[in-house]
Amino acid sequence: MPEADEDAQQPTPHTAPILSPSLPADGRSWSALQAELATLRDDDVDWRAGRAAVYVFDAGKDVRTVAAEAYQQFISENGLGPAAFPSLARMEANVVQMTASLLQAPEGSTGSMSSGGTESIFLAVKACRDWARVHRPQASRKGPPQIVAPRTAHPAFDKAAGYLGLEVVRVPVTDAFTADVSAMEAALSERTILLVGSAPCFPFGLIDPIEQLNAVALAHDLWLHVDACVGGYFAPFARMNGVELPAFDFALPAVQSMSADTHKYGYAAKGASTVIYREPERFAFQGFHFEDWPCRAMATPTFAGTRPGGAIAAAWAVMSYLGMSGYRERARTVVALRERVEEALAELGLNIHGRPQLGLIAFGAEDFPILGLGDWLRERGWVSSRTQGPDGIHLMLSPGHAASIELYIDDLREGVGKARSGTLGIGVPSEVRYA
Ligand SMILES: *Cc1c(COP(=O)(O)O)cnc(C)c1O
Repeated sequence: MPEADEDAQQPTPHTAPILSPSLPADGRSWSALQAELATLRDDDVDWRAGRAAVYVFDAGKDVRTVAAEAYQQFISENGLGPAAFPSLARMEANVVQMTASLLQAPEGSTGSMSSGGTESIFLAVKACRDWARVHRPQASRKGPPQIVAPRTAHPAFDKAAGYLGLEVVRVPVTDAFTADVSAMEAALSERTILLVGSAPCFPFGLIDPIEQLNAVALAHDLWLHVDACVGGYFAPFARMNGVELPAFDFALPAVQSMSADTHKYGYAAKGASTVIYREPERFAFQGFHFEDWPCRAMATPTFAGTRPGGAIAAAWAVMSYLGMSGYRERARTVVALRERVEEALAELGLNIHGRPQLGLIAFGAEDFPILGLGDWLRERGWVSSRTQGPDGIHLMLSPGHAASIELYIDDLREGVGKARSGTLGIGVPSEVRYA
């Protein structure tokens, strides 16, 4: 290629403004800042054009407007003060109630909202740890109590365990990439306090055999947590639409707690998730109480002190705006998008990791390094996650991808052709773990 052409292909120079290294002496006008904020975004992934299959769940402009305006109405309100802001207390209770019923929790179940999936998992693990101190004191006799989880469970369990002085025993999954229940049962010890399954796991988008985990939990009298962070607001609607899903929720009696993120397929503003407990007696171990403080007692239900009212209001408003039919319609769109991707993958001779049924899918190739193709797609502006063991390209689909899916498939087809003819022009795949 002539040099002049190469120059023409250089990316546009970095145009982002240089940010002031210290607080500016005087403030600047909002209109100038508004323009600067828009410029700051120039190098971000163009998710509005459906270019991101990770980080963002786009259910359309109407939903975004509801979330933004509800958030704005409660931008200063603080969930730390439910007595001062009964509005937030009522909305949070309602979000919890709607989620619990969606997940088939029995009468009397309870829970709270949190800042995200990681916090919801942290809270369930903390509640379980403190519950076990009372009800399973033998578990901490010979070392830290343990969580037994499949390899595919979210790292938030290890993060929580690290903070809480627990250990995670990670168990390899089966050839179908789902939890190996007998291997998990074999990994149990007198130190085990918590058994984990995902519905679905993030890496492969697959629902673990929760029914079998339920049987193990019953046999050993263990707390079973189902992490439905990414599936809690999707799987129930996919099932209503006729997708045949295995049991994964509170319909199974050993499921003591579940996490479900309103800021994922709930399409709410970021900073909102839920954690639900079958029994109020276990939820009681989640909270924090401190008495002897000059500003009197401090009691908080979650990890946070100050809690953003906007996140609570936006979650409540979006759920109420979409309702059952709105979520079902979006789940139907996303499942159809995944099926379209599957069709293209079959045509291109690529392998799907496992048999996904929801909105996530990961795929690999037998005859070329898939991560190199991932890098090439990234250079074309497609940002997604990737897997290892096995290597794969990972897609988290949302309704907004309806506008971009054919463009993606066209690029995928071109990239696969190049990869097979050795003309991808990508050397060693990048070490980028997060897109
Ligand atoms: C996203 C996710 C989490 C963590 O949620 P954050 O909101 O990112 O903290 C946990 N588990 C699963 C299965 C997830 O997909």
